[in-house]
Amino acid sequence: MDGMTFKCNNCGHVFDEDSLVKCYDDDGCSYSGCPYCKDYEIEEVEYCEVCGKYKADYDEENEMCEECVDNIVNKFKKIIKNSMQEYELTTLENYYAENDFIL
Ligand SMILES: [Zn+2]
Ligand SMILES: [Zn+2]
Repeated sequence: MDGMTFKCNNCGHVFDEDSLVKCYDDDGCSYSGCPYCKDYEIEEVEYCEVCGKYKADYDEENEMCEECVDNIVNKFKKIIKNSMQEYELTTLENYYAENDFIL
């Protein structure tokens, strides 16, 4: 996708860079605002293919939003916890605290 995508934190609309409107505050200062409600509370977002939402917390490395990364990590932890003994989990935790986590 070309250009940046923004989301308005006030009305929740998603729009591209070209849609931003020039607005003026009470002091006459200009700012780029939401084309729907003219609010300035906008932030850059990216589309997450996994959950299908526009998110500001997009993780470039994993090409998905951080929430989806968390879900995967939690899923992994759940599987591990369900299939291992307590002392095995402690051993793993100690091991990974000292070594890089590589599967
Ligand atoms: Zn808005
Ligand atoms: Zn996501």
